[in-house]
Amino acid sequence: MTEFTTEVQRWEAVLAHERAADGLFWYAVKTTRVYCRPACPSRRPRRENVTFFDSPEEAVAAGFRACRRCQPERVNAAAQAVATAQYLLDTAQTEPSLSELAAAVGLSPFHLQRVFKERLGVSPKQYAVRVRTDRLKTGLRNGQSVTTALYEAGHDSPATLYARSTDQLGMTPRTYARGGHGEMIQYTGASSPLGQMLVAATARGLCAVRFGNMDDMVPELRAEYPKAEVTENAEALKPYVTGILEYLSGQNTALNLRTDAGGTDFQQRVWDALRRIPYGETRSYAELAQMIGEPGAVRAVASACARNPVALVVPCHRIVRTGGALGGYRWGLDMKQRLLDTEKGKTGQAQPTLF
Ligand SMILES: [Zn+2]
Repeated sequence: MTEFTTEVQRWEAVLAHERAADGLFWYAVKTTRVYCRPACPSRRPRRENVTFFDSPEEAVAAGFRACRRCQPERVNAAAQAVATAQYLLDTAQTEPSLSELAAAVGLSPFHLQRVFKERLGVSPKQYAVRVRTDRLKTGLRNGQSVTTALYEAGHDSPATLYARSTDQLGMTPRTYARGGHGEMIQYTGASSPLGQMLVAATARGLCAVRFGNMDDMVPELRAEYPKAEVTENAEALKPYVTGILEYLSGQNTALNLRTDAGGTDFQQRVWDALRRIPYGETRSYAELAQMIGEPGAVRAVASACARNPVALVVPCHRIVRTGGALGGYRWGLDMKQRLLDTEKGKTGQAQPTLF
């Protein structure tokens, strides 16, 4: 099974009018300003006039228009297959195997595995685990007993899955069943060199480090944990706040604070990897994807970085574009640059820090 990831594979697929490649990439022809799907029946262009794209949108953005013969904008076989597989996993009472899923959507198991992961950041198997977790959450919210909810979510044995559920829910099933009641979330606001900072933690560790306006951030936090007891407690948060402020002033290069950030399995793996990037160093999204052993999931890795709830402590600011450009940052590029400068100042030669 070809993956159509290299230009050589793609060009061979175009020459062969390869139907299996439809929806996986598109090619555009410089001389006609038209883009096509690989299986387009039109005459093959000269190689030197051809550019490849990963989506119809990218071809349009580069100034090409859709071919009238093959209607490339309508063909997104991979997206369609993934959506169907996702629907089957969402609705099936008994979890289908990879080969059953693949047969249902008309792809090879290998091919489905690859496009599924590319688009959703997780394999069909990992996705199925998430579906079970979501069902479990819903069952618990609707008042089912923990054991009933576990069974109805498709878990075959409460005993083995209880421990794992704790990680996936961010709290134990019993705590979640009470809607977070009993779960204490304490927060405080602090002035930092980067502006107002909200720091919040459960009994297990930090669940939020954010920047912005306290008047917005506190209601947002409450909305995320509707039934938890969310209270202000500067005293309890003091060790966290002190650690973060010392980090910001360059005095603390190892921000080893405990976190309790929730997230999917995949997000947690990305956040763990971020914490392994040493102070003062940067990595690209591709390198981060390598670190978690998912070199093909660069986009999913980038979106997990963007969803990091615990700024600074999980140092997503250490991720830059390949080639060194800053890339994005939830709290703004200025802030990202300042953080990186502070870290460099500490590892370089007695440069004054910005703060
Ligand atoms: Zn065409």
